[in-house]
Amino acid sequence: MNETFKIAVIGGGAAGFFAAVRAAEVNPAARVVIFEATAHVLAKVRISGGGRCNTTHACFEARELVKRYPRGSRELIGPFNRFGPRDTVAWFAARGVELKTEADGRMFPVTDDSSTIVDCLRRAASSAAVEVRVRTPVEAVEVEGGEAGGMSGVKPDPQGASGGFRLVLRDGVERFDRVILAAGGGKAGGGHALAEGLGHTIETLAPSLFTFQIEDAVLRGLEGLAVPEAEVSVPGTKLKERGPVLVTHWGLSGPGILRLSAWGARELAACDYQFTVRVAWTGEANEEKVRAAIAAGRESLARKQLTTANPLGLPGRLWDRLVEAAGVPATTVWNALPKKGLSALVRAVAASEFAVTGKSMNKEEFVTCGGVRLKEVNFKTMESRRCPGLYFAGEVLDIDGITGGFNFQNAWTTGWIAGSAAAEVIPAE
Ligand SMILES: Cc1cc2nc3c(=O)[nH]c(=O)nc-3n(C[C@H](O)[C@H](O)[C@H](O)COP(=O)(O)OP(=O)(O)OC[C@H]3O[C@@H](n4cnc5c(N)ncnc54)[C@H](O)[C@@H]3O)c2cc1C
Repeated sequence: MNETFKIAVIGGGAAGFFAAVRAAEVNPAARVVIFEATAHVLAKVRISGGGRCNTTHACFEARELVKRYPRGSRELIGPFNRFGPRDTVAWFAARGVELKTEADGRMFPVTDDSSTIVDCLRRAASSAAVEVRVRTPVEAVEVEGGEAGGMSGVKPDPQGASGGFRLVLRDGVERFDRVILAAGGGKAGGGHALAEGLGHTIETLAPSLFTFQIEDAVLRGLEGLAVPEAEVSVPGTKLKERGPVLVTHWGLSGPGILRLSAWGARELAACDYQFTVRVAWTGEANEEKVRAAIAAGRESLARKQLTTANPLGLPGRLWDRLVEAAGVPATTVWNALPKKGLSALVRAVAASEFAVTGKSMNKEEFVTCGGVRLKEVNFKTMESRRCPGLYFAGEVLDIDGITGGFNFQNAWTTGWIAGSAAAEVIPAE
């Protein structure tokens, strides 16, 4: 008699749910179990996007979309062609959840409430008869027929067919035919140790999407101030990004800074988050162009004081600080501004420099750079090239995107592909 085909999904997050639902839908005869270490599934989905869940991004060209991934961009082209943001929108729509697009391309449920997404995923799992076990950490995964296993470093035969797996749980051992590892990017659940135990290499972990700690008189008291399109860069590196920048109590934040942190996750970790950030407040870093823009605006302002007449449209409080930082007395009128003062002002607008002394995690979104080495995974199926029958999905991989819904899209895409492939039963010869 045929035994039930069993698929274990380790991790009850976005990737784990998507993988489990897909596997159960592809193979309704299979028994699919999600193991979640904590008491709550989908905890990150719930807190995501400031409680609104930035579910995906309205970017429907795979080659364009992958540009938003500091790690994983090459590998994700194929997967995004198979299951991209358009498919995410359709997947949720088919289950009664409508997404809307904001001006910057981010997509949210029309309810602006992450529980809409959480409830939808839970309902989908329940209708597909996925079993969800909370408070059930998977402590080790052993390959059936392998000598050691789990955390102890078994190296399965890459050519060998999967014979199955034993999951070591707190209260015993359970056998499964396939395992999907979707344990997230953090160190907490030990997902990377499970992958290592099954022969995988883990690229060094480092935080991504963080904000910069800066203590500087120019920014003091400007908390809450935002500029819509700055250029931020790190002198001495190739790191350069554009986007909104926000002054916070602890330094600088906003999408421009978060993008810079994502692209610089490794370099900035290597210098222990001690570096200089340069800000072009109007988005124009070319000093001659800033000088020309000021010259064009100052003609009509000739008799006005610098601090009351700002030709660049920057927020007034910031402009006052830049004038001060340039060493120009606040009462100076435009037509009495000496050349030296103008040059200092141009420099303050186009290239303010701040010493960064550390990082802070962004409350809206943070992710881990590093994880399971991508070369060791077949992106057509998300199956391990080291351990047949093992699949990966989500942030446990060395994949991370910039802020904007790209990290969930990685979870949906890789989860869907892993679920599809893991559910296929290969007929016995
Ligand atoms: C505050 C915040 C806001 C965010 N907002 C957004 C957003 O709006 N849009 C966006 O695209 N991205 C956002 N992100 C990023 C996004 O949440 C993650 O990239 C995504 O959740 C990753 O999904 P995952 O399923 O791979 O991992 P996770 O969501 O981390 O899920 C992994 C699960 O596995 C469990 N687990 C780990 N080890 C074990 C084990 N050994 N046994 C059993 N269970 C285990 C964990 O407890 C966890 O529940 C945000 C992140 C944060 C922190």
